[in-house]
Amino acid sequence: MNDCLFCKIVRGEIPSRKVHEDDLVFAFHDIRPARPMHLLVVPKRHITSLMTVSGDDEPVLGRMLAVANQLAEEHGSPDGFRVIINNGRIGGQEVPHLHAHVVGGPEPVGPMLGKI
Ligand code: 5GP
Ligand code: ZN
Repeated sequence: MNDCLFCKIVRGEIPSRKVHEDDLVFAFHDIRPARPMHLLVVPKRHITSLMTVSGDDEPVLGRMLAVANQLAEEHGSPDGFRVIINNGRIGGQEVPHLHAHVVGGPEPVGPMLGKI
């Protein structure tokens, strides 16, 4: 996906504050943090949303969640965190490349977040 924003971030064509990269996923700070810790974990290979995953994508989906926990511990939210994945129009997804928001901080994140 040549013109996809998060594909460009994964390729390094658009700068980001990277916090993790492995063979399957890439993670970076959200540009507009909604909480003291607000990271985005994305598959390196383009997947539009959970609405388009196939069985082949199960390893990368698992890796996204495993990395979320590791990153929360490393980035100031060791006592828990919240993962949010917005999907499609109804889910309010703005960037059409699958991404898990990993939010937290030293204090509880509060009631279910509004639009993040
Ligand atoms: P969505 O609404 O699609 O679930 O979330 C998209 C997220 O991507 C938003 O939280 C927004 O702040 C973040 N975002 C949009 N553009 C950029 C960018 O260029 N760089 C980074 N690091 N985050 C971005
Ligand atoms: Zn993409």
